[in-house]
Amino acid sequence: MPEYDPDNIFAKLLRGEIPAQRIYEDDATLAFMDIMPRADGHCLVIPKTPCRNLLDASAEQLSAVIATTQRVANAAKAALGATGVTIQQFNETDGGQEVFHLHFHILPRHEGVALRA
Ligand code: ADP
Repeated sequence: MPEYDPDNIFAKLLRGEIPAQRIYEDDATLAFMDIMPRADGHCLVIPKTPCRNLLDASAEQLSAVIATTQRVANAAKAALGATGVTIQQFNETDGGQEVFHLHFHILPRHEGVALRA
């Protein structure tokens, strides 16, 4: 497993070095809007502690991130009148991961509306 890079974009975002549209925060997690949304309300949930992806996450990190993902997904679904929610999570380059700090995508969905590329 490669080492965690403390200068990845979400680490910088957590340190306040780059802006983010924060929508929920607690001691262990942060949720913010995705900069290139593939659905209305597309947002991301990350742990506040270093973690490359799901493959090297601790049980504590996973349970905190999943709890926040559930909370934010329900809030986004209600706020947007969505009829479904897709949760996505990628691991390593060959698994589709581009930012190497654990994150879950929350994609509110509506009947007949495809995800944008
Ligand atoms: P993929 O790009 O294939 O979805 P990831 O799961 O690593 O791979 O997703 C990274 C996500 O982070 C992308 O949806 C991208 O739009 C988003 N993103 C990148 N930089 C920022 C940023 N500064 N603020 C918010 N979202 C960002």
